[in-house]
Amino acid sequence: MRYHENHCTECDWNASTEEYDSHTAVGRAAIDHYLETGHSIRSLSLTYPDATESGLTT
Ligand SMILES: [Zn+2]
Repeated sequence: MRYHENHCTECDWNASTEEYDSHTAVGRAAIDHYLETGHSIRSLSLTYPDATESGLTT
């Protein structure tokens, strides 16, 4: 099972594969938020049972 989430470090914005159809769509939503606000986005990818957190997605 894979779960991917992008969340903003500066406000409550977030997007995940629970809301969007694909990892790509989540990434696109994050880019839109970044372009609109200039906020920093962090991405979190979980592939069960392992969980890893990776850095900025632009
Ligand atoms: Zn934000």
